[in-house]
Amino acid sequence: MMEYQLTLPTILRRAETLFGKKEIVSRLPDKSIHRYTYYDFAIRTKKLSVALHRLGTGQGDRVATLCWNHYQHLEAYFAIPCMGVIIHPLNIRLSPDDLGYIVNHAEDKIIIVDEVLLPLFEKFKHTIKVSKVIVIPNGGKQIPEEYLNYEDLVASGDDSLFEPFEGDEYSAAFMCYTSGTTGKPKGILYSHRSIMLHVMSFLLSCTGAGINEGDVMLPVVPMFHASAWGFPYSCTFVGTTQVFPGPFLDAESILQLFENEKITLTAGVPTVMMSILNALENEPAKYKLFLRLIILGGSAVPRFLAKSFDENFGIKVLHSWGMTEMSPLGSTSVMTSKLQKASKDEQYDHIAKQGLPVPFVEIRGRNEFGFIPWDGLTMGELEVRGPWICSSYYKGEETTEEKFTQDGWLKTGDIVTISEDGFIEIKDRSKDVIKSGGEWISSVALENSLMGHPSILEAAVIAIPDDKWIERPFAYVVLKEGKNFSAADLNEFLATRFAKFWIPDGYHVIDAIPKTSVGKFLKSALREKFLNEHK
Ligand code: AMP
Repeated sequence: MMEYQLTLPTILRRAETLFGKKEIVSRLPDKSIHRYTYYDFAIRTKKLSVALHRLGTGQGDRVATLCWNHYQHLEAYFAIPCMGVIIHPLNIRLSPDDLGYIVNHAEDKIIIVDEVLLPLFEKFKHTIKVSKVIVIPNGGKQIPEEYLNYEDLVASGDDSLFEPFEGDEYSAAFMCYTSGTTGKPKGILYSHRSIMLHVMSFLLSCTGAGINEGDVMLPVVPMFHASAWGFPYSCTFVGTTQVFPGPFLDAESILQLFENEKITLTAGVPTVMMSILNALENEPAKYKLFLRLIILGGSAVPRFLAKSFDENFGIKVLHSWGMTEMSPLGSTSVMTSKLQKASKDEQYDHIAKQGLPVPFVEIRGRNEFGFIPWDGLTMGELEVRGPWICSSYYKGEETTEEKFTQDGWLKTGDIVTISEDGFIEIKDRSKDVIKSGGEWISSVALENSLMGHPSILEAAVIAIPDDKWIERPFAYVVLKEGKNFSAADLNEFLATRFAKFWIPDGYHVIDAIPKTSVGKFLKSALREKFLNEHK
């Protein structure tokens, strides 16, 4: 066989030569729509690469981005790794302190910042040492002189001088930090090879997304969250039309883009899609939608969400599970031939589970007695291995033992059962587990049921201390507009699904569940709140 390194320029070349006329669309911070072709994208990307090279970046250096989802961010996604440099998207929802820490820890050499995010950047710029700051002019103001203008830089590059990186496929291409809820963020490096194999797996029809050239994809998931789950790379590889929402992630703005751009495929965390479902249910006739599939991940998908999108709007949901440490794809709720013949109810039950590991991802579960049987009942921590799963954290020797087994599998921290057919169901995060009188209670199952109640918009269940049972479940709930709260009604609702001892000891109505920087429920904040209020 030929020696052919799996490196990212392969994707760029394919997009330019085969899909040159397909479109990339972005909603910009001033709400205007920018459109151009994959051909224009490829030329500008090469120019940017050449210009960055001239600024002195070389193989192995890190270039950070502090950007929303838009076409210039996509250019950086390719220009930087396609010259052997590592792109490092920063999570714009982190605190200035954390951002400063991450840039210094990663030793980023250059940073590319959206003009509209300069107020955030300016809060931590004095704490970091980067050689150049490049600003994408998307705020309508004069760029301060101390910074380089992204557009001038692109214009100055000569695309004929572009040198695609075709060196060792194991070289690092992408860097991101975990958005974890405890401790300092931890850095992870994806290689060219790991990204290419991850792309291939997502594109396989057996993972259930069926992404193709005819799709119009809008990733709501931010490009700073685990490479927007790899969509910028997989969509570019197959010539999918890509639509980027910029800073406008409210339900109304997203729904308008869904309609105007005839979006067929989208992806995001369940909390965002719940607000979209809510808006649709309030005004079912307002939007004409073309969506065929919503890919949901990042936290558990409540059953009612999949059911409501399908039954009321004819839109399918694919549930995916993964971790930043896994590039991030681990499993999907793909419908196997057996499930395709099952009743709708069984299919919705299935979509509420995390599903089948995708090709190349190997799984096993372990508890205090050893590896768990695949019986769909016994719980244990999920361990995984595969070609796009990290083997250590960047400069993080001290965490290696804690997070990896002696034979090199990643300990996910997710407590699961695995069915006879190999389907994963996450019962809890290990740190969120509720053990009451020695019995497990799944906070995830309780939350997902509560969010299926007609009055409840969001629900998070935590363990609270109890003298007799050690721990008991307690629920924080957010009501839908105009709805009233009744604990008796919620108890009755849950009693039809769960054993009596699962019913929460109490409820507290709040305005919003606190969330992490990527939209997951921040239960540590609720545990703290509970303890403060019950001293
Ligand atoms: P992150 O690296 O920030 O994406 O967080 C990864 C963690 O999010 C996983 O270990 C799970 O605990 C959780 N997670 C991701 N996807 C899902 C899902 N589909 N269902 C339940 N939990 C999920």
